[in-house]
Amino acid sequence: MSKALAALKLVIDPELRAPITELGMVEITSETDVTASVIVKLTIAGCPAAQKIERDVREVLSESFSSYELTMSVMTQAERDELKVKLRGDAPLRFNPFAQDDNFTQVIFVGSGKGGVGKSTLTTNISVALAELGHKVGLIDADIFGYSIPGQLGISENPTQLDDLILPPIAFGVKVMSIGFFVTDNQPVGWRGPMLHRAIEQFLTNVYWGDLDYLLVDLPPGTGDVAISLGQLLKKARSLVITTPQSAAATVAERSGAIGLQTGQEILGVIENLSYLPSDSGNQYIFGQGGGQAVADRLSTLSGQTVELLAQLPISSELREASDQGVPLVVSHTEHEISIQIVELAKQIASIPIGLGGKSLGLKPR
Ligand code: ADP
Repeated sequence: MSKALAALKLVIDPELRAPITELGMVEITSETDVTASVIVKLTIAGCPAAQKIERDVREVLSESFSSYELTMSVMTQAERDELKVKLRGDAPLRFNPFAQDDNFTQVIFVGSGKGGVGKSTLTTNISVALAELGHKVGLIDADIFGYSIPGQLGISENPTQLDDLILPPIAFGVKVMSIGFFVTDNQPVGWRGPMLHRAIEQFLTNVYWGDLDYLLVDLPPGTGDVAISLGQLLKKARSLVITTPQSAAATVAERSGAIGLQTGQEILGVIENLSYLPSDSGNQYIFGQGGGQAVADRLSTLSGQTVELLAQLPISSELREASDQGVPLVVSHTEHEISIQIVELAKQIASIPIGLGGKSLGLKPR
């Protein structure tokens, strides 16, 4: 292999996670032992990864050659078409990879009855924890009206679009897609049923997810159109239900879990958030007690299987601040009690084989 190619093979496209030499991005126009002339073609003009790719290319070329010439350029339409075929094969448009029998991605819906119970915060932290455990993870922020995941993961740039194929930004090892990427100036999303369904469908069919071990989906609170559309599109999904200990919250959380059961999802378990405020004089139960267990018991009855209360997470200003700052707690404070609980939770979730969602996890809620 040419020396330039061997060097450039080490440069990985951050969005496509493959060597640029395998993506048709490299042309070597001349090469001797000491010099090389190279053209690197970005997928699109203004590609957000452009600077990083150029930096990495310069680094490997300067290590291998005493002088080099680099031209940064952009793929032609024909080259882009070729790349799309490479990425997606010749799958037809509107092909949903997760609905195929030979797809082994474990899809996990995260739902709640009410908003503001910490569903997005936990989905984000669990996703990042799964990625840190070495899994390939995707995250869909389907909380159409309350999307907050791009902010929680500190993603400020929009996804690159290769015509109709969208490349999801990657943060902390997680590929992310959110309606927030397609909304300008924080305009409210006033979409109704069919349009919502189409948008959600596109998150599955037009996004280059690659091979994933897990796809987590942050559902909107309640039992609306989006949850039902997703239940139809992702029939093999299993669900996690998030609630607070408050009995009013628990009653609505049960309903969201029950909708999941109606669309055929197994329930992986219940997580109670905002369970207590730790203090020197003992835990304070600001939102009452027992909601998580009540939801788990009720869903056990409805599903005919044991649904466990997987964890009870305290109120924590560090958890909130980490999300506000765009770096999830499991990354910013790895030793924090909640981070340890979330990593444990991620391990437990990863260890539940499909078909055993109702079986005991042997995890003791604290
Ligand atoms: P949801 O997705 O259920 O609407 P969010 O995840 O957006 O809820 O959380 C709502 C707010 O509560 C956010 O500001 C978040 O940082 C905060 N929050 C979530 N869980 C906790 C917790 N255990 N302790 C303190 N704040 C929390």
